[in-house]
Amino acid sequence: MRISDKLQTGLPTWSFEYFPPKTNQGLQNLYDRMERMYELGPAFIDITWNAGGRLSNLTCEMVATAQSVYGLETCMHLTCTGMPQEKVADALKSAYEAGCQNILALRGDPLREEEEWKATPGGFKYARDIVRYIKKKYGDYFCIVVAGYPEGHPDEPEEDKDIQHLKEKIDAGGSLIITQMFYDVDKFLLWVKKCRNAGITCPIIPGIMPIQTWAAFIRRAKWAGCHIPQHFMEQLEPMKDDDAALRERGTVLIMDMCQKIFDAGIQHLHFYTMNLEQATKMVLEGLGLVPSKESLSPLPWRQSLSLRRK
Ligand code: FAD
Repeated sequence: MRISDKLQTGLPTWSFEYFPPKTNQGLQNLYDRMERMYELGPAFIDITWNAGGRLSNLTCEMVATAQSVYGLETCMHLTCTGMPQEKVADALKSAYEAGCQNILALRGDPLREEEEWKATPGGFKYARDIVRYIKKKYGDYFCIVVAGYPEGHPDEPEEDKDIQHLKEKIDAGGSLIITQMFYDVDKFLLWVKKCRNAGITCPIIPGIMPIQTWAAFIRRAKWAGCHIPQHFMEQLEPMKDDDAALRERGTVLIMDMCQKIFDAGIQHLHFYTMNLEQATKMVLEGLGLVPSKESLSPLPWRQSLSLRRK
């Protein structure tokens, strides 16, 4: 199902991002975790894309397993990095054949060995171009999601221009925006307002990064270039050597963020799980959003297993 249709419930919904693990054991652990986290009631899950090689094949494999074996509503990330058009076509075909109807279309990060992003010969230059390609080849089959940056993108110093480029992605066929992580809700809400003023009307889904450890909190905020509000620093720094206490306090701060987002009328949260369970679970539990076991239908593969056992 297209996630743009799935999110139109008028009620709060949430989703989980995972990335392909490096080892087979890591992969099995992640499948087990994805199944457990289904009990937290995500509207969809998404799997990130790494340029080229084993990991991008693994993204396709994980999307097929999550969507067609486990029956989880899945969104596949797909980037332009290192991807001539034929490879993009193959990846889309694999998602299509797996019954996945959602693609997060991205330009991608630069290759590890390169400082600046470079287009691949025979490939695409901007996310907008891959959105156009998907739309042309598949019409409305895929719900196309695109990335947005409430605190700007490093390649475009002018905010207005970056928002214009975001609008071009929507005009090309994007139906939803998922944002980069942030901790400053006021900045995020101001940016949403600017997007609305620029004529962007589709849902904008905030990217939420739960707080796991002090080192990871600081590193990820720096990597994403996001501002850490003073009250986060004041409350978290004194417990930087106590992971459990930091996670508890971090959960309260993230819950406050989410509540403020809901209060502003935005009903969906997108969690960067970093393939971990606990911190996301604590936030959803704290917000009282975790559904009761009885209200969840079992995953389709479990349903067929129990039918076979009868
Ligand atoms: P674009 O929208 O193409 O924008 C890139 C830059 O080019 C921006 O500065 C933009 O303003 C500028 N630009 C766009 N159009 C034009 C134009 N016509 N003229 C001039 N400048 C223009 N990376 C991965 O490698 N794999 C992933 O799975 C992944 N998942 C992500 C998920 C989310 C929700 C987010 C927010 C980011 C993700 N990223 C991922 C990171 C992303 O690939 C990088 O941030 C990348 O640098 C930009 O990608 P984009 O799709 O936003 O690019």
